[in-house]
Amino acid sequence: SDGDISFMSQSGAFITAVLDWAAERDVGFKDIVSLGNKAVLDESDFVAEWGDDPDTDVILGYLEDINDGSSFVQTAREVTQETPIVLVKSGRTDAGASAAASHTGAMAGSERAYEAGLDKAGTLRVESVQELFDYAQILAGQPLPDGDEIAIVTNAGGPGVMTTDAVGDSDLQLAQFGDETFSRLREEMPDEANIYNPVDIIGDAPAERFETALETVLADDNVSMAVVVACPTAVLSFEELSERVVEQQERFEKPVAATLMGGKSVDAGANVLSEAGVPNYFDPARAVGSLDALRRYREIRATEYEEPTTFDVDRERAREILESGARRGSNRLGVEAMELLDAYGIPTPQGDVVSSPVEAEAIAEEIGDDVVMKIVSPDILHKSDIGGVEVGVPVEDVRDTYEDLVVRARNYQEDATILGVQVQEMVDLDNGVETILGMNRDPQFGPLLLFGLGGIFVEVLEDNTVSVAPVSETEAKGMLDDIDSAPLLRGARGRDPVDEATLVETIQRLSQLVTDFPAIVELDINPLVATPDGVQAVDLRLTLDQEKL
Ligand code: ADP
Ligand code: MG
Repeated sequence: SDGDISFMSQSGAFITAVLDWAAERDVGFKDIVSLGNKAVLDESDFVAEWGDDPDTDVILGYLEDINDGSSFVQTAREVTQETPIVLVKSGRTDAGASAAASHTGAMAGSERAYEAGLDKAGTLRVESVQELFDYAQILAGQPLPDGDEIAIVTNAGGPGVMTTDAVGDSDLQLAQFGDETFSRLREEMPDEANIYNPVDIIGDAPAERFETALETVLADDNVSMAVVVACPTAVLSFEELSERVVEQQERFEKPVAATLMGGKSVDAGANVLSEAGVPNYFDPARAVGSLDALRRYREIRATEYEEPTTFDVDRERAREILESGARRGSNRLGVEAMELLDAYGIPTPQGDVVSSPVEAEAIAEEIGDDVVMKIVSPDILHKSDIGGVEVGVPVEDVRDTYEDLVVRARNYQEDATILGVQVQEMVDLDNGVETILGMNRDPQFGPLLLFGLGGIFVEVLEDNTVSVAPVSETEAKGMLDDIDSAPLLRGARGRDPVDEATLVETIQRLSQLVTDFPAIVELDINPLVATPDGVQAVDLRLTLDQEKL
């Protein structure tokens, strides 16, 4: 064993199990630590220490929680440029989530914060102990690929198809061979062989034919890595095959994984592979998954961390708005605090909150068209649920509608604090997409941004993504790419695509707002209407922690 893996665990029992497991395999550990209660040293300390240790090639961790998410993200980001970090984070239930006042609070619970935080930290998060060690083995034993194209070489049709399916499930691509590769395979392989990827060199293949095929595909510039899938046959020696696979792997310095499909008969071959650091699995899906982990790690290494953009904003104005909200004695702010968004350059429709029917009419006349009217009360979280939103009100109905909205609010809660009624310009929803943009502050990772499909479907479809703020432009763009409904924003079904640049900028501006004001505990802009001409924040709800103001 080379002693090139360092491992930290928050469970002592798990360490014992791992040592037992490792004793039977050619897995060497450099350091193994039990994190215990993390009183003195925590996961960030060990990651930093191992990052500087030339004998640690891979860092593994089993974590139940993270002490200080922000410092972990910073430390891990740097270390992962040199040393891969693979983590199992055991899940926990989001008990607190249902108490949240915002949609974002309900959807962006602690489990998603970990997901986003560990992702931002550049770690490879795995779901199972098996994956943890699969990744460790291949990262310690194989070089990184220079692309994502994989070649499959097999002596059996069925397993070849299974391997191809596994490639389809991964982010790898089946390599398209160059002409030279085809002509060589055509020359060297039997007529019945399939020389297209997956290369099926058929059941009578001896080890030598495997080697020729592997050598040919690895020599191809269009191939970044290969998997060898071998079923036992009368003419095939797994041991000889393994020696030849190792030789070609070392010669081309491209990552290779093997799938020797058998029981005891594969042991001698498996040893040869293991000693050379070529991983071997019974299941082709594991071989492909591990190779895909190399691709992911390569991508992590290639990530250039850009600074978040700092926009020119009116921070003082924003502070005043938050403070005046706090002075009213409520921790919950709604559309009356809409100017907060204006102060940070997030567009809002024309309008105002007023406290009489006459004033409401005056605003509507100023807008000069049908308007939207909403009840404004810290006691009413979801305005439309109680009939507190009227869309498309003509000017002549504005006064009556004002009275109606107040009556409905009183019917809902007699002693509700009513701050007034918002009169707002209509936004063209027919040409727009209702999105949600929000933030929930996580105790470990800090502000967690959420972006997704908004409006009334928000909790039904739950199509959204989260990211730890502050986000860079690239990260903000990535959030847009991440949601399933991205094609909807990009002009599916003959619609005009929305103004993506402004949408991305709005995500960054909100990121700056919640980073500047730790007093904002959670915040929802729902909907943020995205149209071909820009975005409009139509609704706002936020919770304050007054002590942090
Ligand atoms: P709440 O979420 O508290 O019910 P909203 O302000 O989000 O209140 O309004 C509910 C819905 O009414 C929105 O999702 C949107 O479909 C519609 N709506 C609100 N404001 C406007 C507006 N200015 N223009 C067009 N539609 C609006
Ligand atoms: Mg809303």
